[in-house]
Amino acid sequence: MSSIKNFFSSFLLYEFFKGMLLTGKYFFRRKVTLIYPYEKTPKSPRFRGLHALRRYEDGEERCIACKLCEAVCPAMAISIESEQRSDGSRRTTRYDIDLTKCIFCGFCEESCPVDSIVETHIHEYHGEKQGDLYFTKEMLLAIGDKYESDIAIRIAEDASYR
Ligand code: SF4
Ligand code: SF4
Repeated sequence: MSSIKNFFSSFLLYEFFKGMLLTGKYFFRRKVTLIYPYEKTPKSPRFRGLHALRRYEDGEERCIACKLCEAVCPAMAISIESEQRSDGSRRTTRYDIDLTKCIFCGFCEESCPVDSIVETHIHEYHGEKQGDLYFTKEMLLAIGDKYESDIAIRIAEDASYR
């Protein structure tokens, strides 16, 4: 009996029309998928993307080389070297993040007493060869300089969660 049923089911293209009916049912409904990268989902202010180092408005680096971020990083992705300036302040001479080690936990940002190291909303970046995802202090400062207004807005939105 079942073989006869299968025969007529195949012969009359039952599964095909059933599939087409389902397609037709959803064709005019509101779409829930997005056409990435032309359309993007909204991101939480707490989204943790590419890192950046920030400056104060006068151009001075925020980082005071306390090394808290380096100490707290569970992936040991941050490498810092520092020296004392002639005015007695301490600043980094080297601040590198190896993004191939980073797990984007956000501990570095949480630990920073001066909001220097932050994780931006940038997630569309990639590396093509070894070393491309090794970000130096100059690269991190350049990201901070370029996206400072976005970073400041995001930190203000995030303040109520802290
Ligand atoms: S996000 Fe986490 S793993 Fe990545 S550098 Fe910061 S502390 Fe380290
Ligand atoms: S980025 Fe912040 S936590 Fe890390 S060394 Fe600089 S001041 Fe300290």
